[in-house]
Parts: sequence; structure tokens; C-alpha cells
Amino acid sequence: MRFGERRETVTAWVGGVPVGSSMPVVVQSMTNTDTADARGTAEQVVALARAGSQLVRVTVNNDEAAAAVPEIASRVIDAGVIVPIVGDFHYNGHLLLAKYPECARTLAKYRINPGNVGGKRRDENFRTIVQIAVDHDKPVRIGVNWGSLDQDLLTQMMDENARTGSLRDAKDVYIEAMLASALRSAELAEEVGLRHDQIIISAKVSGVQDLVEVYRRLAARCDYPLHLGLTEAGMGTKGIVASTAGLSILLAEGIGDTIRVSLTPKPNGDRTEEVLVAQQILQSLGLRSFAPQVTACPGCGRTTSTFFQHMAEDIQTYIRDQMPVWREERPGVEELKVAVMGCVVNGPGESKHANIGISLPGTFEEPKAPVYVDGKLRTTLKGDTIVQDFLKILEDYVASHYAATSANSSSDATAAPSSRMIAPVKPTSLSRS
Ligand code: SF4
Repeated sequence: MRFGERRETVTAWVGGVPVGSSMPVVVQSMTNTDTADARGTAEQVVALARAGSQLVRVTVNNDEAAAAVPEIASRVIDAGVIVPIVGDFHYNGHLLLAKYPECARTLAKYRINPGNVGGKRRDENFRTIVQIAVDHDKPVRIGVNWGSLDQDLLTQMMDENARTGSLRDAKDVYIEAMLASALRSAELAEEVGLRHDQIIISAKVSGVQDLVEVYRRLAARCDYPLHLGLTEAGMGTKGIVASTAGLSILLAEGIGDTIRVSLTPKPNGDRTEEVLVAQQILQSLGLRSFAPQVTACPGCGRTTSTFFQHMAEDIQTYIRDQMPVWREERPGVEELKVAVMGCVVNGPGESKHANIGISLPGTFEEPKAPVYVDGKLRTTLKGDTIVQDFLKILEDYVASHYAATSANSSSDATAAPSSRMIAPVKPTSLSRS
């Protein structure tokens, strides 16, 4: 199989979003607000969707949360955002979905964890949720989790392993129990009446190697679309790196049709970070494009000033701020590649590989910055307005290479950008250190 060639699956539609191997990998996220707080939750759903989340999941954990779902959906629509909202159910989903039919109708998909749909009445409760999904023509995600695996099934498989003298170790049996829980639940859901193409499966664990093993086995045994994610990935660098490592291996093998990066935000941190990380994973692998990429060298002893670091940051920030407008008005701009390099060693070479690149002067180099456009030297910048000048070239390039949509068709795409398009940035000069 070639890099990234997808494992073939059926396509499950979640609201208006198709999930499956014939479509690009879908980015999704989950709110961390109290769902009963309709206003706060709707605001976060809107923020996540605007950041690029194509599906947003909310926990539906009690009566107040279930009752709030229709209002959340209305508020999101009122904000001008269209995004399918997914309900996450544990323990009492069968009760809440039956008691709050508007909640059941509003949600685009139900997530069911077979490990905690209710002790001895597990199958009955599971059937109840699936029947409601069938009645409302909704897909479900059967989401098995390492931390809440069906204990009866696990015990049964452990006992069987011991009785038959199998050489399987405990972890192997654990993985098999996860897969059995997911696949048996999918079978049961289809028996109840859910269509084969209304089921998405996940089997999340918290270790990278285990994640890869679980999903490789799962991928080989079914053609349901798979939702990838490392559960409890953690905070900051650890969470980002662990998620990237695990998801990248699987995505490179063509496994995974929708992804979520489960980062633990800092207190009052920005929830949308998980969306940006998920997008960056897909873009770094060359599977999707979301925003122009800025290649910046790490800097070294050849650059004694921090000028190029500031410049790289200024350009990255500028592009991020412009993207909501560009996304609407300049389709294709997400393919743009920009290079900001710190000295003559790799600067000109890397700049020539980008659509637009600038090579800043290193220590003892002449204080000038050649700019390359599509591999050719366009100009050489000097002085205190270097960032503004570079951004002007960037805007010119965007305007002349990415056709304006009808929303912007009255303007001349080849004309120099208007001053409103150059957002103010901090003054940066070659003398800053
Ligand atoms: S391009 Fe120059 S400044 Fe940047 S890391 Fe390489 S040698 Fe150092």
C-alpha cells in the first residue's frame, strides 16, 4: 500500500459530513463546557467549528444537558455556523434519548460506549439507544475505551485464555477484548436495524504502541469507518507529540477516517488548540491542506539576533489572522508555501522551494534580505519596513494566484492589494535583537 492510501470503508454520513475512505479525513473535537450551559457550550461549538472542526461532540450526561441540546444547536445556527453536533453518552444514554426526543432529533450522531451502557441490562440498553438512532435515521459511533472496557467480556476472555492454555499475554487478550466489544456491538446494532453505513468505530487507548496495534487489527477485520484518537493524550508537548506519533503511523498506513486530538488544555486555555493540532497532523502528512505553511529554520549560532524569529512569528500570525478571509475569498490559498530563513546557508535554497521565501542575513552577512517568488529572485529588502514589505509581496501573490470567489469578484484579482488587506504588525527591523 502506498503512503496514505486509504483502507477501504463504507461512508457514514454525520449530518452533512461524510466519513469514510472515499472522503478526506475529517477533523473533529469535543467541548469541555457544562452542556447544560447552552450559551457557553454553543460559544465553544462555534469557536471549534470556526477553527476548522467539522464535527463537534458534546457530553450529554444528565437531564439538563439533554434538555439544552436543541438550544445549543439553535444558538450555533444563529451564529451563522453549520456544524453537526454529536452527543456523547455514558451510563444513561438509553434513558436520556428516550426522555428527550428533541435532543435525539437534534444530534447528528450518538456515541455509545459499550463498556458502560449498564451492567446486567447492557444489551437491552444498547438496543434501546440503537433503536432510537434507527428511528431518527442517525449514525452511531461505537466507542470502546481502554479505561472503560466491558469487564464481563474481558473476564470471560481472560478465563478462556487461561483454560485453553493459550500463549496470549494479558495485554494481547485486553486488545482482543476491546476489538470483540466493538465488533460484537456493531453486529448487534445491525441486528437492531442500523444500516452498515451508519456505524463508525473507535477503540481508544492511552499508549502509542497499543493504539497502533489496536487499530491495525481493527482495520483488518471490518470496513466500518474508524475514528482515531489517543485517549487521555495529556497536556502540552506530551499530548501533542504522543497524539501525532500514534495518529501519524496509522494515517500513513491509510487507517483512520476521522481524527480527534484529545489534549488537556491549561486552565482557561484555548480549546481550539486540539483542532489546530489535528489539522497540522494531516497537513504535515500531506493528506489535507488547511492553511499556508511557513517553513522557518530553527536558527543557530549564525544568527545572533532574534529578528528572524520575530519575523517568522509575525508572518505566521498574519497568515492565521487572514485565513478566515482568504478561505472565503481565495480558494486554494491553503496550498501556499512560505519560507522564512535565518541566513545564507540554507536560506536561498529553501526559499526557492517555497512559493515565496525570504532569506534574512546571518551574523556578519550584509544586512539585506533577498525575496524569492516561485524560485526566482524577486527583490531584496532592507531597512525598518521589511515585514510590511514582505507581507505586501505575500498579499500580491495571493491576489494574483488564487482566484477571487464571487463574494470578492468585484475586485481585480491581479491588482495590488488594498491597504485594508495588510493588517498592522509590530514594526520589525533588521537591527532588532
Ligand atoms: S539557515 Fe542559517 S541560521 Fe537557519 S539554522 Fe541554517 S545555518 Fe542556522
